[in-house]
Amino acid sequence: MIKLFQVGFVQRTSETSAILKNIEKIPYKTFDYGDYQTVRLLHTETGEVEELPLDIYLYGVVSSEMPVAFEEEALKAQAIVARTYTIYQMMHHQKHAEQGADICDSSLCCQAWISKENRMARWEETEREENWIKIENAVNATIGKVILYEGEPIKAFFHSNSGGMTESSLNVWGGDYPYLQAVETIGESDYSSYESEVIVSKDELIVKMRENFDDFEIHFEQDDWIQILETTDTSRAYF
Ligand SMILES: [Zn+2]
Repeated sequence: MIKLFQVGFVQRTSETSAILKNIEKIPYKTFDYGDYQTVRLLHTETGEVEELPLDIYLYGVVSSEMPVAFEEEALKAQAIVARTYTIYQMMHHQKHAEQGADICDSSLCCQAWISKENRMARWEETEREENWIKIENAVNATIGKVILYEGEPIKAFFHSNSGGMTESSLNVWGGDYPYLQAVETIGESDYSSYESEVIVSKDELIVKMRENFDDFEIHFEQDDWIQILETTDTSRAYF
């Protein structure tokens, strides 16, 4: 079961109190991330390592990973997921240990990060201040919140759109985690990346396939040479 746990002080409205009351009935271990307050961030372009307070670091992650125009609640959810992902990296991963860092600023490797200065420069001048405050508020409103499974931060992977259903981690990376199972995600069809199409020429297809399979051969004149042999439970091609 995934639960949000608050270690910081939060003002409780009657509505949140009702929700928390139900959560508190469930016995669970608590998690204090007090030891993980400083992030050693590796700047991939320069190779420099910068130390940043966790939540200040998260301003740069949230403003990089999600458009500021998104709903406030979406930005808050992104902040919680990014905090959880970061703490998990600090606790378990030694990906950048050799460089003396916990995490890097690349979305292709760890998670995207951008400095306030660079972020502001990319926004319209008239919106800069307001946008940055929106980002700070989203992170600050979630201080103390991380996603736990059995009292420990989860591997909080995130993506923009799963096309109506997520895929289990077992089918993607091979690791089976009880909290990374396939679930329906209703309401994604109105948003970007719900559907996509890739057109590949015959020659390109052969080149790409031979990168992984030396003896790859195909006869395009025979229709049945390209077919999906097996799908996962979420109707994705199994490979
Ligand atoms: Zn990295």
